[in-house]
Amino acid sequence: MKYIGAHVSASGGVENAPLNAKEIGANALALFTKNQRQWTAPPLSPESILAFGKNLQAANIRPEHVLPHDSYLINLGSPKKELRKKSFEAFLDEVQRVEQLGLKLLNFHPGSHLKEISEDESLSFVAEALNRTIDKTTSAVLVIENTAGQGSNLGYKFEHLAQIIAQIEDKSRVGVCIDTCHTFAAGYPLNEVAEIEKTFKEFARIIGFKYLRGMHLNDSKNEWHSKKDRHESIGQGFIGQELFKFVMKDQRFDNIPLILETPDPIRWKDEISLLNSWV
Ligand SMILES: [Zn+2]
Ligand SMILES: [Zn+2]
Repeated sequence: MKYIGAHVSASGGVENAPLNAKEIGANALALFTKNQRQWTAPPLSPESILAFGKNLQAANIRPEHVLPHDSYLINLGSPKKELRKKSFEAFLDEVQRVEQLGLKLLNFHPGSHLKEISEDESLSFVAEALNRTIDKTTSAVLVIENTAGQGSNLGYKFEHLAQIIAQIEDKSRVGVCIDTCHTFAAGYPLNEVAEIEKTFKEFARIIGFKYLRGMHLNDSKNEWHSKKDRHESIGQGFIGQELFKFVMKDQRFDNIPLILETPDPIRWKDEISLLNSWV
């Protein structure tokens, strides 16, 4: 079965996110559990946690189909010791919030080397932070997202994600999220069926589908290999419909949250219907 949703607003409290998901006919969702542009946030209140659980149930969405995203400020691979420390503390807080909400996954971008250290060294910093986080928490799976490769961002090659996973002690606590826009922008061809098959064959060989815990379904405003992270509505960008039809028909994408991060929330309901029509 396919579980399709969008990264919905949690403004006014995390408990509003499931209500927003229900309104667009979603059976999965993504959210920020705190303001994504700030380092710290007040703890979740017991009332908010309780209401979140109730609303999630009322929306008929299971906790394993919720894919929370961490703050944009966090850089676990930073070359600067101070920033790594600050990032680790903020990241640990994100995972704890996820566990408090009874959720199973936390999605994050690996980080940036800022051109001051090698990719290998930066990736090792990320793995080190993940191992420490896993030690200090109980169950959440840390879901690494691939990136478009803008600036000095890590994660634009499947090998980067595999390299982090290889250094994780408890592999049951790590997974990946493949963002279709990022994959395409990073240089993996995704237009025609033969290209799509080839790209996912690469994914299977280098990372493996057993680590796939979520997808971000976005078309791309920019052309192939642009290295630019600009999402477009499904079928309206340079990727086109074929990829999304492929994902909807392929059972390897069953039972994980498939999340729209497309730019026009007004269209989400229609985009979800369109995707469901291809299942
Ligand atoms: Zn994404
Ligand atoms: Zn993006």
